[in-house]
Amino acid sequence: MSKYFIHLNQKRCISCKACEVHCKVKNKVPPGAKLGQLVSLGPVEKQGKPSYVSMFLPCFHCENPWCVSACPTGAMTRREDGIVYVERSLCVGCKACVLACPWKVPQWDELNGQVISKFI
Ligand code: SF4
Ligand code: SF4
Ligand code: SF4
Repeated sequence: MSKYFIHLNQKRCISCKACEVHCKVKNKVPPGAKLGQLVSLGPVEKQGKPSYVSMFLPCFHCENPWCVSACPTGAMTRREDGIVYVERSLCVGCKACVLACPWKVPQWDELNGQVISKFI
């Protein structure tokens, strides 16, 4: 079970993706990578109007994280407070964590040949 999550109110979300943009800018995320992904399904018709179903997929900071188990160097780490993050000095860029996470949360930083380090 996840210790931390971001609640998205489906009734109010209009799938504009401004949250994705803000996350990228605030965390200086390199091109092509996203720390939080807004996934939209649709449009579907709802009460005669086009509507989307949206899900926000940041890291869930899983209690038994697949990404941490898969990492051969200990770079992908779960802190005592439950935060999962990458210790960049230990990352050898093998991408095992990218493959292990069911939601594809760990993001590849093409510029530096590593997984990006901030999942908070
Ligand atoms: S996409 Fe993000 S910023 Fe836009 S309405 Fe939905 S939650 Fe808010
Ligand atoms: S990267 Fe994926 S598997 Fe790892 S803690 Fe986050 S959501 Fe869980
Ligand atoms: S890419 Fe880095 S953080 Fe991910 S499994 Fe490999 S060494 Fe660990």
